[in-house]
Amino acid sequence: MSIFSFISGFPRVGQNREYKWAVEKFWRGEISEEDLLKIVDNQILDSWIKQQSFLIDKQLIGDFSFYDQVLDAIAYLGIPLKRFGYISTNNLDSYFSAARGGNINGKKEQPLEMTKWFNTNYHYLVPEIDWEKPFKPDISRITHEYNLATKNKINVITKILGPATLATLSKEEEFSKEQSSKLANSYLDLINQISELGVTEVMLDEGAVAVGGHFVEKSHFSCLIDVINSSSINVRINGYFGSYKGLLDDLLDSKLSILHLDIIDGNFKLDEIIEISKKKKISLGIINGRSIWRSNLKETYTYLDKLKNKIDFFEISTSCSLMHLPYSLEKEEALDQNLKSILSFGDEKLNEIAFLKESIFSGEISSDIEKYTENMIKANQVLEGRVENKVRERVDNLTDDMFMRGQDREERLDLQIEKIGIPNLPTTTIGSFPQTPETRLLRRRLRSGEIDADEYVKGVKEIIKETVDIQESLGLDILVHGEAERNDMVEYFGELLNGFAFTSNGWVQSYGSRCVKPPIIYGDVFRESKMTVDWSAYAQSLTTKPMKGMLTGPVTILKWSFVRDDISNREVAYQIALALRDEVEDLENNGIKIIQIDEPAIREGLPLNQEDKEEYLSWAVNSFKLCSSGVRSETQIHSHMCYSEFDEILDAINSLDVDVLSIEASRSGMDLVNSGLSKKYYGAIGPGVYDIHSPLVLEYKDAKERINQLSSNLGEKYIWVNPDCGLKTRGWDEVKQSLSNMVKATVEIRRGEVE
Ligand code: GLN
Ligand code: ZN
Repeated sequence: MSIFSFISGFPRVGQNREYKWAVEKFWRGEISEEDLLKIVDNQILDSWIKQQSFLIDKQLIGDFSFYDQVLDAIAYLGIPLKRFGYISTNNLDSYFSAARGGNINGKKEQPLEMTKWFNTNYHYLVPEIDWEKPFKPDISRITHEYNLATKNKINVITKILGPATLATLSKEEEFSKEQSSKLANSYLDLINQISELGVTEVMLDEGAVAVGGHFVEKSHFSCLIDVINSSSINVRINGYFGSYKGLLDDLLDSKLSILHLDIIDGNFKLDEIIEISKKKKISLGIINGRSIWRSNLKETYTYLDKLKNKIDFFEISTSCSLMHLPYSLEKEEALDQNLKSILSFGDEKLNEIAFLKESIFSGEISSDIEKYTENMIKANQVLEGRVENKVRERVDNLTDDMFMRGQDREERLDLQIEKIGIPNLPTTTIGSFPQTPETRLLRRRLRSGEIDADEYVKGVKEIIKETVDIQESLGLDILVHGEAERNDMVEYFGELLNGFAFTSNGWVQSYGSRCVKPPIIYGDVFRESKMTVDWSAYAQSLTTKPMKGMLTGPVTILKWSFVRDDISNREVAYQIALALRDEVEDLENNGIKIIQIDEPAIREGLPLNQEDKEEYLSWAVNSFKLCSSGVRSETQIHSHMCYSEFDEILDAINSLDVDVLSIEASRSGMDLVNSGLSKKYYGAIGPGVYDIHSPLVLEYKDAKERINQLSSNLGEKYIWVNPDCGLKTRGWDEVKQSLSNMVKATVEIRRGEVE
């Protein structure tokens, strides 16, 4: 029996986000390429040495990325991109131009599109492969890391994104024979060059293949099999987030050297694992690689111990790369000690693997494992806020009517138009207005104690008043308070709700150098007092026009947080929903007639596995309805969604039963209207006519054209006119001009001046 340990990736931003600071300095021209390389080399080396110290047997060349692992594969394989040509990590300008946009042959090019990496919160760059030109594999970066490793006596293998996942994520159609062999050959060429360096194993990262046959095209998968079978050195396959459904037999018949099994998301049964192990060496992803919670190591040990006598070779591993976790708990001095004792970030996961490996070797549970597990169990029991009986009871006693509005949507809409006084083609915005340095300074001064709560409230109220005045003078119909008090739409509510904790250094890479610091939902969620009512009521007091209340929905709060795993997501979502339901009711009772509940994350929460989708959509929809359905018919509920294509979940969106939905235009909203999909959506809808992702001003002509298009495709009662997302990141000048054009165009169309 041989037992090893392995991980397929570590957080690559560094303990103190060294990569971020360095690369951003490089972009600003403050450090040279040479400086950047030095910093990066140190960081890679640190990470390798650390992993060694936790008994990980092989380290990875190609785990670090200057921006994104998909773009890295493009660079290694020398695949030309349509707008950017060949890119290389040897020439960082070419590489970053594809990642961030740049000047190509005198023409300004937008960066490659970014999209979600499976169902995580990481975003990768979507390659636009130019099949016309030859592929020219480029070994230079791999050589560089190889030399770094040998100089420091590190045992390395090379990690590259595999062909099936590369093709899937690039949104390539089925390959022709020529395409398949062209791509396979460039992998084989690269692998040959890697073997000449002296590296004896290549790991192809194949998340898409593990997700299963429904997720990858046949020809993309065949390309992978060709690469495996023709490779000159060992090829191991690293799949995660699924069980290789429909593809496993072919993989086992191939010449792959080691197959990684994601025991957590793949749900492999013990006897399945044993069967697989008869054909191939396996890597057992038994520690959850994307959960921030400690594993019960005693249970895991027992599990591994059972397998130990039945399997000749295995590696103890995490279910997936640790890149979706914060680096380490080490710096979290301010976190509750009991909470810390149930958490496990990157470093701690390595430690878990080391503990297991030692115990499996020695054949008995070590005192380290005993202590670690006991601490966790004890902390779990004494951690305050974990179980709040009044919250549990409320969730247990929900009744069907709490998920339903009293009247049908069509009748409600008529009533609302009349009672609230909503004009035809009402104009509005999505919630936030530009956050100026003064706004941010105000929040910072409150945090540092430089000003007290009263001064802070006064300051925010001034900003609200200005924002309301500007909206009045622009002639908008439905106003917002502007969200100046919010730093982030999830963090804001997390800080006001019970059951949330915040780390000081728990950063996770979102894309490129951008990191997010998600809140941790560790306890039962409830609301102690009103969260937004005072701001909204104050804003309403300044105007006779309707003021929208503004909340973040339960699914988005949950999806953009790290969520406890001792109760179901459904239960957590319902708890959040109940807290929001109370807030909705308070808003209504304080004179707010329109309440918007944002759910931008509802689509991205959709599970990868077909069988899990229905379950997810059911609790996602229900938790939304639970917070929105307690109001009177004449109170209008809005929701806002963005960042995604919604076709696949249109039925679910319909069943949210919101009165008005505002939705991102460029990629989904306008499509929704133009493609006739709108006939399948029965509520009123505001497809964004102003693209807030660009600093460009919305031109009057474009505004008019878009609004006209809307009103010719939808009944007037059902169209709202608005930007496609919040205006927080924009500047006041461009926002004022754009909104003024939007309002002017609307007013003319309303008057019947179509041209
Ligand atoms: N109401 C939020 C805002 O305007 C919505 C943000 C979002 O959809 N991401 O900022
Ligand atoms: Zn949005």
